[in-house]
Amino acid sequence: MSGLVTKLSWRIYHYVHTHGLVADVVYKGAHFFQNLWRALQYRWLSRHKVSAEALWPHRHLAASGLLITGVTNICNAKCTFCAYPKVVESKTLQTGVMSLDTFKKAADEWAAAGGKDLDLTPVVGDPLIDPGVLDKVKYAVSHALIEKVTLTTNAILLDHNDNYKKLIDLGIGCVCISTQGTSREAYEKVYGVKKYDEAMSGIRHLLEYNHAQGEPARIIIRFRNDQKPSEIIHAPDFMVHIKPFLSERVRVNFTVDFDNWGGTIKPEDMSGSMKMRRLPPQLDVPCQALFGYAVRHDGNVRLCGCRLVQNDLDDLVVGNIYQHTLSEIAAGENAWKIIQGFYAGQRPQTCRNCTLYRPVTRKWLAQRAVKK
Ligand code: SF4
Ligand code: SF4
Repeated sequence: MSGLVTKLSWRIYHYVHTHGLVADVVYKGAHFFQNLWRALQYRWLSRHKVSAEALWPHRHLAASGLLITGVTNICNAKCTFCAYPKVVESKTLQTGVMSLDTFKKAADEWAAAGGKDLDLTPVVGDPLIDPGVLDKVKYAVSHALIEKVTLTTNAILLDHNDNYKKLIDLGIGCVCISTQGTSREAYEKVYGVKKYDEAMSGIRHLLEYNHAQGEPARIIIRFRNDQKPSEIIHAPDFMVHIKPFLSERVRVNFTVDFDNWGGTIKPEDMSGSMKMRRLPPQLDVPCQALFGYAVRHDGNVRLCGCRLVQNDLDDLVVGNIYQHTLSEIAAGENAWKIIQGFYAGQRPQTCRNCTLYRPVTRKWLAQRAVKK
């Protein structure tokens, strides 16, 4: 029965994402319904808050979660919807590349804690910039034996050094691609670099090679689109290089709305069909993302691997893996102070006005506990 449901939901998904007008309607509707759903949900949640006492036992490294090891915070694109170009311009981001030793330490601790998902994607930056990224994937898959190793790339360096082939051969679990769509002009406007051909070629090679090997990796192409979904779906590059390889394990999706990186991204940064996500009500309940951990390239550990405002050495940093273990940091005083601060209306600067804020709910806690 569940196999049938999976097949059916895949068919519906595939239909929506390969029929332009349907995709336009669905994604336009999604923006409206998402806002409505969030408004109703937050109203309900403001009356059914999870207390600090209920959260206290959850201060631990949950194997059901995701560990992020941001292998480098350097990027080769300048996307208009991302804080990266702005923090580079303001010189507030201190960049670097993670050593293999730091990576091994984080991966080993995560594996020992039973962690199954490891993501090599930094808050900002492209993991393929790291010259040692393949050694790290190899270590995580073949030595630390982590079940699902993932990275997100803008695809510009997939062809370089046959990275697309090596990632698959090393046994990566999932490759996520973030790209604009199928218009060179829109790509250059949104991604800020003249790399459309490199990115499209890398995507094609990755999809083709993964397909030829029997789809060992899941691939998700996330269009950060300025173009309407129908314009992308009807374009020759989509028809020739992407559509033939779509399957249950190889999917595309479009962006319903873009978040504001704590106020760094503004409506004037949007273009074409891009829309900004509305700021949700700021409840005095901690955000779910505070229960995830991101190891920076220098070993600093930060709550929330999703967003930064000025830099990634900010008030969400709660320790360093060279001073404490990940488990100690997760259960430590610094992390709890930030979590507890939400109840007193004290949020880290990065969390103030963040449109990605998702309050902890009882359901979310129950799921986290079950998967522990
Ligand atoms: S969105 Fe990704 S690819 Fe674009 S500038 Fe930011 S980190 Fe780089
Ligand atoms: S509010 Fe935003 S920055 Fe803060 S933890 Fe949540 S997602 Fe991260």
